[in-house]
Amino acid sequence: MSVTLVEPGEVEQFVQKRPRSREAFERARRVLAGGVAQHMRSMRPFPIAIARASGARKWDVDGNEYIDYHFGSGALLLGHAHREVMAAIQDQLRRGWHFAQPHLLEAEWGEWVQRLVPSVEHVRFINSGSEADMLAVRLARAYTGKPKVLRFEGHYHGWWTLGILGLNAPFLPLESAGVTPGETQDVVMLPANDPELVARTLDADPQIGTVILEPSGGSWSTIPLRPGFLQAVREVTAARGVVLIFDEVITGFRWSSGGAQVRFGITPDLTTMAKIVSGGMPGGAVGGRADIMAGLVGPDPKRRVAQGGTFNGNPLSAAAGIATLRIASTGEPQRHADALAERLRAGINEIIKRVDISAVAYGESSTFHIYIGERPAGVSAGEHLWTDDAARLKGMPQELVDGLRRALQNVGVDLMSGTGGMVSAVHSKADIEETLVKFEGALKAVREERPDLFPG
Ligand code: PMP
Repeated sequence: MSVTLVEPGEVEQFVQKRPRSREAFERARRVLAGGVAQHMRSMRPFPIAIARASGARKWDVDGNEYIDYHFGSGALLLGHAHREVMAAIQDQLRRGWHFAQPHLLEAEWGEWVQRLVPSVEHVRFINSGSEADMLAVRLARAYTGKPKVLRFEGHYHGWWTLGILGLNAPFLPLESAGVTPGETQDVVMLPANDPELVARTLDADPQIGTVILEPSGGSWSTIPLRPGFLQAVREVTAARGVVLIFDEVITGFRWSSGGAQVRFGITPDLTTMAKIVSGGMPGGAVGGRADIMAGLVGPDPKRRVAQGGTFNGNPLSAAAGIATLRIASTGEPQRHADALAERLRAGINEIIKRVDISAVAYGESSTFHIYIGERPAGVSAGEHLWTDDAARLKGMPQELVDGLRRALQNVGVDLMSGTGGMVSAVHSKADIEETLVKFEGALKAVREERPDLFPG
């Protein structure tokens, strides 16, 4: 009688290979709320705990190696532990890491941002992308004197009330416990990609003085924008004196050395930045027109835009930011990452065809996204994709999203979210080809185990 050895399923494999990550999570769960520092780091049955990272690779506490496409949520264009960035941080560390007073690196850092990002006449450094969006909206409201802010379905602007609203399909107005309807009354939500609708909405409600969007399209290009939409929004807002904010927390210094605004040749009034701007250290920035940024200046606290922050412009983030922007300013890291991401997207689409599932890989610049589900009408694999049906693109079953992520982790690839990732300046062609082989294996493994999650 022959005995058939059955390969353990992806969940069992995941658990078997990670006793220390499991232990780390059990310990964390006893002390950290939910066992993590923020929701998106949760994973079933437990998240991997990272021990170290270098270049395009990272290792978990069990010694499993990963080709990384997460990169600190897209903060590390130059990869992990970049030598020059590390040297800059170490150099500053020796001189002290926190003053909460002016120091010489602040202006140098600001000059790099000003030089690279066309909309930035003046800049203020803060601590995160969420803070940047909060401050930008406050500045815009102070400038226009109008309370309402127009934002788009599926676009992410941090975890504060206005930022988190409308992130996930079906884009309900309240997206978080602890948020009151009163807090949301000044938010107007529209689907993207319809400039006429934006114009009509602004004309109908003179209380709207601000429009904020991700110039990549919602959630780092998961929901792409139709060609021409950004330009049309720029024209519609400029004609009405409405302040346009580009949230370049992801796209800043990634879509080009000057972000999405340079790549597309469209200049917003204000720009928010984080992640790459501070070289992967905690940090963020708001920059823009001097007359709007002037809201932060002046002797009378009652007339000024209120803003604080113990760690604003901290020297370690400044040092990492300067070192990173110096390298990013050449445009070479972005060109390299973009080209490899294009190869990765094309390769995944070839696999999708070969394996014959209804799916599509897409994305802009150095990002890639994978959507498995009924393909939107008229979209074939490999084709650039956009849709007004944002709900569909964000509507993959969680079990499938988690299954794919785990199956990829089992073969040594880590995505940024369950359905996509970022390519960096330090990935090689060989990394991409290795990823494609692993991707095909992982996709087949998930489908074999859970065919019910795949569209027929
Ligand atoms: N805006 C965008 C477009 C983002 O992607 C993010 C975070 N991923 C934020 C704002 C918030 O940034 P942070 O997590 O630094 O608060």
